[in-house]
Amino acid sequence: MDFWFSEQHTNDVKLSIRVDKQLYSAHSDFQRIDVFDSPEFGRFLVLDGYMMLTQKDEFIYHEMIVHPAMAVHPRVRNALVIGGGDGGAVRELCRYDDIEHIDLVEIDKQVVEVSREFFPEITCSLDDPRVKIHYRDGLRYVRGCKDEYDLIIVDSTDPFGPGEGLFTREFYGNCYKALKEDGIMINQHESPFYREDALACQRAHKRIVESFPISKVYQAHIPTYPSGHWLFGFASKKYHPLRDLDEKRWNARGLQCKYYTTMLHKGAFYIPAYVEELLKNVEQAD
Ligand code: SAM
Repeated sequence: MDFWFSEQHTNDVKLSIRVDKQLYSAHSDFQRIDVFDSPEFGRFLVLDGYMMLTQKDEFIYHEMIVHPAMAVHPRVRNALVIGGGDGGAVRELCRYDDIEHIDLVEIDKQVVEVSREFFPEITCSLDDPRVKIHYRDGLRYVRGCKDEYDLIIVDSTDPFGPGEGLFTREFYGNCYKALKEDGIMINQHESPFYREDALACQRAHKRIVESFPISKVYQAHIPTYPSGHWLFGFASKKYHPLRDLDEKRWNARGLQCKYYTTMLHKGAFYIPAYVEELLKNVEQAD
């Protein structure tokens, strides 16, 4: 008997993945958490019916939410990850020896516990002595921060449910305040392809543009996300993602990535004409 996981991408489009087994299913205080095992993508994590990560393609998202900022900012010592309870963004940050401290603010402790059980290769750095996990709402957490972080990574779910507050003007304004004078904020910025996602992307971008002097988007191909064309926001107080990219310094680190390179970095910020159009009336010229 065939068993498939299907995620609704629009009212008329679904992504279906053949599943061998369901490994976990429960309701936390915040969301439904499911883990499946599949022949094509290995194990994958689903929250409230939405694909979060798969063993096969998580490297793309986690490399791309971390390394572009690290190749631009000259001295990230103190980082904040909001969301990201699967540990993937923290794993990529911990590859940098000169990062001194990482706060991970994840609202749902059960996501961390389930990720530790089923995705140890992704949560592998959560016990790094530099990492401190706070089980709190990121929206509330940043209200109390000022001039603290060199880098903030917003690795949230989509703009509804517990993640809704992480797409607001208030949140982005507080992230600006929480960053040092040359800080960078990276966020998962949804997708430009399907109408609902594009509207969410446009709304988020407008709010970020209103909070940061430099605000660009870059892209990656993530097979298991709606349309596969996924965007990230690069919001910066000082450094430009292309003009201040230091290829030599980043490549000298000798970090081997499966997706990110400093050449790809440059390409990622050259987005399709229709995406330029979608964002142009909310993006300040740099
Ligand atoms: N890569 C995924 C994506 O793009 O959808 C996100 C992965 S990560 C699992 C998303 C995490 O954000 C979840 O663990 C969720 O519990 C957490 N989250 C959602 N809203 C939050 C909030 N307000 N504060 C902190 N964490 C939150």
